[in-house]
Amino acid sequence: MIDPFGRQIDYVRISVTDRCDFRCVYCMAENMTFLPKAELLTLEELARLCDTFIDLGVRKIRLTGGEPLVRKGIMTLFEQIGANVASGRLDELTVTTNGSQLARFAPDLYRTGVRRVNVSLDTLDPVRFQAITRWGKYDRVMAGIEAAKAAGLKVKINTVALKGVNDDEFDRLIAWCGAEGFDLTLIETMPLGDIDGDRTDQYLPLSMVRARLEQRWTLTDIPHKTSGPARYVAIGETGGRLGFITPLSHNFCEACNRVRVTCTGTMFMCLGQEDNCELREALRASEGDDLVKQAILDGIARKPKGHDFVIDRRHQKPAVGRHMSVTGG
Ligand code: SAM
Ligand code: SF4
Repeated sequence: MIDPFGRQIDYVRISVTDRCDFRCVYCMAENMTFLPKAELLTLEELARLCDTFIDLGVRKIRLTGGEPLVRKGIMTLFEQIGANVASGRLDELTVTTNGSQLARFAPDLYRTGVRRVNVSLDTLDPVRFQAITRWGKYDRVMAGIEAAKAAGLKVKINTVALKGVNDDEFDRLIAWCGAEGFDLTLIETMPLGDIDGDRTDQYLPLSMVRARLEQRWTLTDIPHKTSGPARYVAIGETGGRLGFITPLSHNFCEACNRVRVTCTGTMFMCLGQEDNCELREALRASEGDDLVKQAILDGIARKPKGHDFVIDRRHQKPAVGRHMSVTGG
């Protein structure tokens, strides 16, 4: 699939649920209304959709959410998609998780063909962890991360950089990830969905973070590519890698290779734009996949050049009304 700007689209991120067992302050309001279950794609429909994307040339699928591992029966979906990794039709099946269910599922994930997991962890301080995630259990997440490592999964830690919240912890996170053999990616907050607080207070440009880290660590730019938007540096002292995802201070759209599908089957061609394309009706209209294939191709033909996120005091509303937990991170 090639979009109007010549970019090859071979990566799909699919949100399998909008529900979550955490309530991270930058992601959700505490009192969220979730979608009625009947609106979600069934696991069978999700599997069919993934097959169709693979037929169209997709080589990498990431399952996300909400919290993907809280969806009932989700391992059957991993199994079905994972069979394509075994047969060589798909290069990679991955997952982004808050880690709460990893202690239970890590060996199953490995068995179904997953080799890398992204675990979101913003702090190594249990008290802060509680404040950021509201409902999360620190010990459980730590046990989950260890279980993932023990199961042979390569772990990448994703940390949202929050001014005044965790910006004094990056050195500690780098050292910990180095010792554990995990890569680390720092992410700028994005203006997605209404939350209880004000995002301008939390926004921390990663260019500033990098300059500060360079006083303590030897950071060398490396061309490492994971088909994601992160720019990577090698950390001389730990031998680990550190990624920066900077949607606001550095626009990464020119290399965008992906689309996102929500748990109700709406395909968003850009995380930061409203234009979308409904795949659920096409999936349900017939047993064959021609309609849904056509719907996907119609969407790709409208993929926009890029997003126009802004965070500043003049823009009090989020740039995009839907939450990250709807489109998937
Ligand atoms: N629940 C899973 C998790 O937390 O990893 C998967 C979904 S979560 C929406 C995916 C990623 O998006 C997480 O790393 C989270 O920290 C990040 N995220 C959520 N809201 C965000 C926002 N407004 N700006 C930047 N990152 C955000
Ligand atoms: Fe849940 Fe992930 Fe959002 Fe936190 S960031 S509330 S874990 S979906």
